[in-house]
Amino acid sequence: MSHEKVLIVEDNKLNLRLMDFILKSRGYQVLSAADADECLGLCKSQKPDLILMDLQLPGVDGLSLTRHLRELPETSGAIIIAVTAKAMKMDRERALEAGCDAYLAKPIDTRKLPETIEELLDRKKARN
Ligand code: MN
Repeated sequence: MSHEKVLIVEDNKLNLRLMDFILKSRGYQVLSAADADECLGLCKSQKPDLILMDLQLPGVDGLSLTRHLRELPETSGAIIIAVTAKAMKMDRERALEAGCDAYLAKPIDTRKLPETIEELLDRKKARN
């Protein structure tokens, strides 16, 4: 069981509940934010290891928020995974360009989500 901190940034309650359930059952510490302000507050106080970023958020969108997180000392080294229903090749490229490490399409794949998280966290541990 892992105890890494994962922050879910998601404004849709059902998606949030699903991801929260999947991650808690894998032993992660889960935090959640419904918009950019909440996300920034939690990132500064909690320094999450990994952030699941919904790209369609009210107000500041997930891509702008990701660019901002990459400039903060608390989150410059965090893993950021874009989660979005816009799954075209161009959307993927834009997400990676903004600073995301990976990209997952909605609807959420209950197997692929934890696999991707585990893989990226393992890779990060191997680097450090
Ligand atoms: Mn959304």
